[in-house]
Amino acid sequence: MSVLKIENLSYTYNEGLPGETKALDNINLDIEEGSFVGIIGHTGSGKSTLISHLNGLTKPQTGRILLDGKDIWKDYSDIRQVRFNVGLVFQYPEYQLFEETCYKDIAFGPKNMGLSDEEVDKRVKMAARFCGVSDEMLAGSPFDLSGGQKRRVAIAGIIAMMPKVLVLDEPCAGLDPEGRELILSQVKNYHQQTGSTVILVSHSMEDIANYADKVIVMRQGQIYKFAPTEEVFQDAENLAKMGLGIPDVTKVFLKLREMGLDIPTDVYTIPYAVKTIIKYKKAKEEAKNA
Ligand code: ADP
Ligand code: MG
Repeated sequence: MSVLKIENLSYTYNEGLPGETKALDNINLDIEEGSFVGIIGHTGSGKSTLISHLNGLTKPQTGRILLDGKDIWKDYSDIRQVRFNVGLVFQYPEYQLFEETCYKDIAFGPKNMGLSDEEVDKRVKMAARFCGVSDEMLAGSPFDLSGGQKRRVAIAGIIAMMPKVLVLDEPCAGLDPEGRELILSQVKNYHQQTGSTVILVSHSMEDIANYADKVIVMRQGQIYKFAPTEEVFQDAENLAKMGLGIPDVTKVFLKLREMGLDIPTDVYTIPYAVKTIIKYKKAKEEAKNA
């Protein structure tokens, strides 16, 4: 079932002015409820502009956004209802922390929803658990935390609203591999345990390959491809030509194929690579023994 639908969405910055930029060019998308969708594309391809439409932060110039089949600008009396349902984590969300304790920061969203103190408290603790925010961190100031910790507090603030759709714009930007892994596994946990839909914008093909079940590849304000992850990676050669950093393991497989090995090129995760190599070895041995 579709949770978010984007119809004929176009958007131009500075329309009719010098510096006019067409950021989105007739986007059509149907996001299935409960899916984990990755969005990848060059800087400037329109990723942030696209997702800023999903929670009503930006109003479409042309086209419509439907949440559960309802036009978010027509069928909702209050756009805030849309914002509670589609939780958007901005790039560098830690810059938006402002309260004196992490607890208060995480409570901000659910409080705005008009929930009781008791429910807000439950939500804060639930979100803190998902994001690895300890009781000690909750009681302390966000400004005493490391970059990665702050980011997790900011994400918890969105998760505390229990949005049906969680949208994250490059949540790992600027973090070390350990910090990246932590955030992505927490998001995955949230996705699996709540059945919510996740839309993850990332620069890293590796991250997308490991977490998303469907991938949107954007190019110059358009959808170049929207397909299941394995299908997108069957096109690895073209993605590489487009300059999108394909996963290292995919590069290795492309190279091996170039060298004449009869192996698939759509290998994009380490576990799948291992399986493929074992299968290849077995086939070789069987051919030798036959
Ligand atoms: P991405 O997130 O993929 O890097 P963006 O959605 O940020 O892409 O940008 C899409 C295009 O719109 C780019 O050409 C960018 O320069 C332009 N753009 C983005 N934000 C603005 C803005 N506030 N004013 C003018 N142009 C913008
Ligand atoms: Mg962006």
